[in-house]
Amino acid sequence: MRPRRARRGTCRRPWHDRHFMKRLVQAPNAAIATLWADMLRQAGFAVSVQRYFTGSIAGEIPPDQALPEVWVLDDGEHARATALLHELRHLPHLHWLCAGCGERVDGPFEQCWNCGAMRP
Ligand SMILES: [Zn+2]
Repeated sequence: MRPRRARRGTCRRPWHDRHFMKRLVQAPNAAIATLWADMLRQAGFAVSVQRYFTGSIAGEIPPDQALPEVWVLDDGEHARATALLHELRHLPHLHWLCAGCGERVDGPFEQCWNCGAMRP
């Protein structure tokens, strides 16, 4: 009788054997690249921001190649990450009306820029 194969650690991820990084999206600036990467990480994706520091040498390389990029570490998750990123970029709740002053607040802000009231 053959011995049962020992189970590998449960945290072992199958893609470790064969994962390839794949570019998800090019961001207009480093702050947005970081924001998107954080949102993706919170959703459980392993992502990396590339060319984060190339701003200092912008001008020496074509502008479209100087922008930061968000890469997914597992190309097998590229489609799901892309779908999530699309949702994040078009979230309806990124626009809200302030209960205090009625101002329309755009973007991922928790506080009204006009009167300082917190998001409802
Ligand atoms: Zn307000």
